[in-house]
Amino acid sequence: MINFKSFKYIVDSNKKFVITTHINPDGDALGSQLALAYFLKRLEKNVHLINHSPTPGNYQFLDEDDLIHQYDKKLDDVILNADVLIAVDFNEITRIKSMVEVFSKSKAYKICIDHHTNPKNFVDEFFCDTEYSASGEIVYELIKRYDRNLIDKRIADALYAAIMTDTGSFRFERTSPRVHRIIAELLEKGTNPTEIFNKIYNELSIAKLKLLGNGISNIRTAFEGKIAYVIITREMLKESEANEEDVDGFVNFCLSIKSAQIGILFFELKDGIKASLRSKDTFAVSQLAEKFGGGGHINAAGIRFYDKKLDEVITILLEQAEKDLIEFEKRGTNVKV
Ligand code: 5GP
Ligand code: MN
Repeated sequence: MINFKSFKYIVDSNKKFVITTHINPDGDALGSQLALAYFLKRLEKNVHLINHSPTPGNYQFLDEDDLIHQYDKKLDDVILNADVLIAVDFNEITRIKSMVEVFSKSKAYKICIDHHTNPKNFVDEFFCDTEYSASGEIVYELIKRYDRNLIDKRIADALYAAIMTDTGSFRFERTSPRVHRIIAELLEKGTNPTEIFNKIYNELSIAKLKLLGNGISNIRTAFEGKIAYVIITREMLKESEANEEDVDGFVNFCLSIKSAQIGILFFELKDGIKASLRSKDTFAVSQLAEKFGGGGHINAAGIRFYDKKLDEVITILLEQAEKDLIEFEKRGTNVKV
């Protein structure tokens, strides 16, 4: 499915690369983006990393040279004059928000490296496959098949962070034997799993923990406990002196309830509402998310609402989730055929 030869050709025949990833980037987004950048730099390419969102503090250690820039109109020329634009860990253009216009306008050759379902037609060439646990796993294969000797510790650390975070520390559905083989190779390059885990997950602020406590103590359920959800409002954020990125990961606690098949986090953003969806087994939250213009994977998806109030979002999403669960229980799937 992934055309490794074509990737090699694109790398070899171009000089100026711009790599971008999605709004509110996670470990896979940033790890994949940085690994690609370190790889291209080893080939002496000219590389710029530009994102809509700033890099969350706990991922900053992966970008020790501060290669990632937050998008600003001043960077338009770099994007417009690039030979190749690489979109990594997302598959529809709206996910880059403020960069949509300049990305569309650029005459660069555009490629997408990703593992989400339902890619939209926004690039010239896709290096995508939903079988992969993380975009980082695809990036690993792309680099390895280009020249495995190029994978140094920096690249290995970035890829390890990408794969660890997107597999829920090697426990989600697509944690395949191949994932563990790749991880073994990354460890052989010097990656230290304890160090990376601690930097990403064990450097939380008290503010985040207080906000989590507040959210969890108000957890609610619907549909006989099959849906568990947490609400985080601006008020709660203010009370605990936390910031938006602190909410990352909260949704996973919903699924720790035995009866819960679907977990939802409703999060009031500055300018809208974000719903993060998680599921156990084969209930496809991506299908549920797509009904509201969102997307993602079978067991993890998200939606952003910019024209609705929090209460309204909660009502419509819970209603739809319940309908889809009923269908899932009847048919054994909620995936359209
Ligand atoms: P999270 O809930 O952790 O932000 O995201 C879970 C998954 O859903 C990720 O793979 C992410 O890329 C995807 N996702 C999150 N928010 C959105 C969204 O607003 N639109 C789309 N299409 N996908 C999203
Ligand atoms: Mn990913």
